[in-house]
Amino acid sequence: MPEDPVKELRELVDSLSDWLRYQRRLGWRGVPGKVAPQIQDIEKSADKIPGLEEIRAEMGDCRRCKLYGGRTRLVFGDGAANALLMFVGEAPGAEEDKQGVPFVGAAGQLLNNLLSKLGLRREEVYIANIIKSRPPGNRDPEADEIAACLPFLEKQIKAIRPRVIVTLGRIATHALLGTKEPLTRLRGHWQRYHDIRVMPTFHPSYLLRAPQERRKTWDDMQQVMEYLAEHGET
Ligand code: URA
Repeated sequence: MPEDPVKELRELVDSLSDWLRYQRRLGWRGVPGKVAPQIQDIEKSADKIPGLEEIRAEMGDCRRCKLYGGRTRLVFGDGAANALLMFVGEAPGAEEDKQGVPFVGAAGQLLNNLLSKLGLRREEVYIANIIKSRPPGNRDPEADEIAACLPFLEKQIKAIRPRVIVTLGRIATHALLGTKEPLTRLRGHWQRYHDIRVMPTFHPSYLLRAPQERRKTWDDMQQVMEYLAEHGET
């Protein structure tokens, strides 16, 4: 008989929880059980939701808005097609335009650092932008450009079905949530995009200019990680 069976049981539960959390980060989505089918699963089988490759093919050499003329490469998205966590930024910058990959410039370095401090690998999340072509001189995207591009992000979200979306900065947050509420009021508070939780936070480019605000994004991400640890498996 153990000396303190309750303590021993608690330790056992703690280490099992740690192990399960670790497995989730590796992409495990739990044991299939007799649960009611999710609405997205029903939609998926009924309407044949296109996968990321199909969505990329549909975009083709996109000329749906005026940004196509100035871009080098279309920046579609990067990461795991079954990611539990998705980041949505604004639009490609110079380096992203050159490489065709989101968040690979200075802001991307900061995002990578944040991910690694959270114990996440870039390959296990998905990163995309509202706008897939670089606006000239990194100006803010215009309403017609957002209107032309947003449907593709929405399809990406439907294909990936993340548990949580983190919107990076004002433009991404406003475009995805369809609100004009100041980011300072939205950040750190859960929002919804259909049935998916959204955590708005600061854009890494802003955090490069205002390092004193990084703590707030760190706190926002703690909420995200806690939610995923509790709900990421099903
Ligand atoms: N800023 C963004 O919003 N997206 C990128 O891909 C790079 C910088």
